[in-house]
Amino acid sequence: MTSTQPQPTTTDAGIPVESDEHSLTVGPDGPILLQDHYAIEQMAQWNRERVPERQPHAKGSGAFGRFEVTGDVSAYTKAAVFQPGTRTGLVARFSTVAGERGSPDTWRDPRGFAVKFYTTEGNYDMVGNNTPVFFIRDPMKFQHFIRSQKRRADNNLRDHDMQWDFWTLSPESAHQVTYLMGDRGIPRTWRHMNGYSSHTYMWVNAQGERFWVKYHFISEQGVEGLTQEEADALASSDGDYHTRDLFEAIGRGDHPSWVLKAQIMPFEDAKNYRFNAFDLTKVWPHADYPLTEVGRMTLDGNPTDHHSQIEQLAVEPSNLVPGIGPSPDKMLLGRMFSYPDAHRYRIGANYNQLPVNAPKSPVHSYSKDGAMRYNLVSDPVYAPNSKGGPRADTARYGEPAGWHTDGEMVRGAYTLHAEDDDWGQAGTLVRDVLSDAERNRLVDNIVGHLLAGVTEPVLLRAFEYWHNVDADLGRRIEKGVREEQP
Ligand code: NDP
Repeated sequence: MTSTQPQPTTTDAGIPVESDEHSLTVGPDGPILLQDHYAIEQMAQWNRERVPERQPHAKGSGAFGRFEVTGDVSAYTKAAVFQPGTRTGLVARFSTVAGERGSPDTWRDPRGFAVKFYTTEGNYDMVGNNTPVFFIRDPMKFQHFIRSQKRRADNNLRDHDMQWDFWTLSPESAHQVTYLMGDRGIPRTWRHMNGYSSHTYMWVNAQGERFWVKYHFISEQGVEGLTQEEADALASSDGDYHTRDLFEAIGRGDHPSWVLKAQIMPFEDAKNYRFNAFDLTKVWPHADYPLTEVGRMTLDGNPTDHHSQIEQLAVEPSNLVPGIGPSPDKMLLGRMFSYPDAHRYRIGANYNQLPVNAPKSPVHSYSKDGAMRYNLVSDPVYAPNSKGGPRADTARYGEPAGWHTDGEMVRGAYTLHAEDDDWGQAGTLVRDVLSDAERNRLVDNIVGHLLAGVTEPVLLRAFEYWHNVDADLGRRIEKGVREEQP
C-alpha cells in the first residue's frame, strides 16, 4: 500500500499557512485579526470566483479529444487541419441555449455543439448546434430572440407566451421550431446527437478555387431523444444528467465519436440555387449536395478543472484558418463580431492566453498589455518596422477568402431564390422525414407547450403558423389545444 504525503497548504503566494481550520483570534473566543492574511485571501478570492455566465449557452460542459482526417477533401480546401491523415487535438463544448448555469440539462432547447481545433495554422473554431438550421436569419433579431426565450422583466419567469409571441411574429423560425418540438429537441445524451455548422462556410483550395460548405458531425452512438416525460422527470431528479453522462462515459473509456461529413457546393452554384445557400433557416437537401466524409472526432479526455478548461473556454466563429472563410450568411457575420466581444467582457482582453484557448502553433501578434497579460511583449511593438518584428506573409496568405459584392446600402431581407419561403422545408420535415409516431409526439409536444401559458391572440397566430407548416398538423394542434383548454 502506498500513501502519499499531502503537500503543505500555502497561500496563493506560496507561503506555508499555519492552519486550514482556524482563523487567527485574540484568545479562543476573541475577535478575528485583520492580519490573518490567509483567512482574508480565502474570503476575498471566493468572492471573485465567478466570471459572468455566458449570455446564451450558459449551461454546458465539454471534453478534450482529437480529430483524424479519414477522407480526402484536399481538392476543396487547403486547410492543414483537413489534409489527408492529419491528426489534430481539440476541445468540444455542449450546452443548452436559454437556461442559466444551474438550469436542467434536459430542458427542451437546441444544444450548442462547439469545437476548437488546435491546428498547425492557429485555432479553428466551429461553433454550431445540434440542429442544421436556426430560428432567425438576421443578427439584428438575435438579442430579441434570446430575450424572448429567457426571463420576463416583472416576475423573472420564463414564459411560453413571449416565446410564441416572438416565434409567430418571426415566421422564419418555423423550420427550427419544428425541429425543436420533435424528438431531437431533447437529446438523450450529448453523445446521442449530431452537430451541424448550420452556417455555410467557404473552403479555398491550393489553387485558390472557392467552394461553399456545410458541416455535419454525425454521431457514431446514433441519434436518440428523450420524451417530454423522461426529460421532465430527469430535470427534477438529475439536472446535470447530460454533464454527468459525458464525464462518466469518458471516465470509463467509452469515448464518443462523430464522423465529420461535409456538403460541398461549387462556388457558382449559390447564385441560382433554388434556396438561398446562406439563409441559416434552410438546409441544403442531401439529394442536391450529398455528404462527403472528412474525418472522425473522438472525445477521450475529461477536464480536470471545469472552470479553467470549460467555463473559460472561448470559442468564436471568427477563428477561421487559411483555406476556410466566412460566407455571406448575415448571422455568421454578426457572430464573428459578437463572440470575441463576449469573451473580452466575460474573461478579459487576454482570454486567448489561457491554456485552453491558446493555440498550439506560435503566436506573433502585435496585441499588447491589458489586464492579466501573461505572454511577454517584446519590441518592436508596431508595424511596419525595420527592427525585425513579425511581418504579414501576404504572398502566402494575402488572398482573402471572399466574394464579389456591390450594391446600395439597404436594410432588407435576403434576395429570395426560386423556392425560398418560411414554411416549405419545415413542411418537408413533418411530411417526408418524421414517422407517424414521431409526428404524434411532435403534436403532443406542441400542444403541451401551447397549453402552458400561451394566451390569445398569440394562440391564434400559433395555429395559423402550424397550418402554414402543414395543414393537417395545424388542424391537429388546434384541436388538441381547444379540447384541453380549461
Ligand atoms: P433526407 O431524407 O435526405 O434527409 C432527412 C434528414 O433528416 C436525415 O438524413 C436526418 O439527418 C434528418 N432526420 C431524421 N429524423 C429526423 C427527426 N426526427 N427530426 C429531425 N431530423 C431528422 O431529406 P433532405 O436532405 O431533403 O431534408 C429534408 C428535411 O430533413 C429538411 O427540410 C430538414 O428539415 C431535415 N434535415 C435535413 C438535413 C440536411 O442537411 N439536408 C439535416 C437534418 C435534417 P441526419 O442524417 O443529419 O441525422
